[in-house]
Amino acid sequence: MDLISVREVRVARNRDDIVFAPGEQPLGGGTWLFSEEQDGLTGLVDLTGMGWPSITETDAALTISATSTIADLAALTPADLRSDPLAGGRDRGIGDARALFWQCANSLLASFKIWNVATVGGNIATALPAGPMTSLAAALDATAIIWTADDGERTLPVADLVTGVRQTALAPGEVLRAIEIPRSSLESRTGFRRIALSPLGRTGTMVIARASASGASPEVVFTVTGGTTRPVQLRFDEPPSAAALERALLGIDCWYTDPHGAADWRRAMSARFAEELRAELQ
Ligand SMILES: Cc1cc2nc3c(=O)[nH]c(=O)nc-3n(C[C@H](O)[C@H](O)[C@H](O)COP(=O)(O)OP(=O)(O)OC[C@H]3O[C@@H](n4cnc5c(N)ncnc54)[C@H](O)[C@@H]3O)c2cc1C
Repeated sequence: MDLISVREVRVARNRDDIVFAPGEQPLGGGTWLFSEEQDGLTGLVDLTGMGWPSITETDAALTISATSTIADLAALTPADLRSDPLAGGRDRGIGDARALFWQCANSLLASFKIWNVATVGGNIATALPAGPMTSLAAALDATAIIWTADDGERTLPVADLVTGVRQTALAPGEVLRAIEIPRSSLESRTGFRRIALSPLGRTGTMVIARASASGASPEVVFTVTGGTTRPVQLRFDEPPSAAALERALLGIDCWYTDPHGAADWRRAMSARFAEELRAELQ
């Protein structure tokens, strides 16, 4: 839609351009910003002009720029995982962590037009519970690289960046620069479950289980998103028993109700998915 209150759209070319006057906001792909009225918005600073490399990989980590698109991310999935229905399709199977790129991208149910412009940073910063890039990054213990308003940089686990429905820990003037996924997470085994109220509906709840590939530290992490107002991680030093997992799930206090699902349904489905994944990981 037209945002008739917007007076100026500036394209950022270097860091000095990333400053925000009152009423200005960063622009990623614009798929959320231009989807509804934005009270008080007078200007946009287009981050895609920064030319950040979409994805870089080192021995230690995979760095995904905030301006990477959902399509860039889906393309990271090895072709065999993309074509494998167990990995990419119907929420089944424990496998390579890279299958998650495909599974999470497919959880943003939109046309190729949206996939090719919607950004990873925009998805996380929008902080919708059903934000699949938040789910992916939180489940893989990614770190958010944040550019601060005073030209500095700080880091925060993505799981802690989204603090509630449409709420983040970003301070005014801060932008998400990138997310960094540690190599150890990429080498983990993962399992994925997602449900929505209708076949093409927005996520009701999503549970991702991740087991460390290292025998020395057999950490198992369950990440719940979509059904909760913010990402919730349940960590275990060793594969949990069914009772231990159930106890941990009972401690979650941020189930919520909206048109995409009721809190009790979300809690029940998440518990069922977590138990299925626990059994599969073993
Ligand atoms: C058909 C359709 C289906 C959708 N399905 C889903 C869904 O299932 N789940 C979901 O979460 N969303 C969904 N969306 C909403 C939206 O498209 C996505 O959240 C998308 O990823 C937003 O990315 P963007 O780059 O377009 O963000 P923009 O619209 O450009 O920005 C969104 C917000 O993030 C801020 N922002 C952008 N980049 C940064 C940055 N680097 N640092 C700090 N702040 C930033 C902007 O200022 C703005 O407040 C859907 C949209 C459509 C049209």
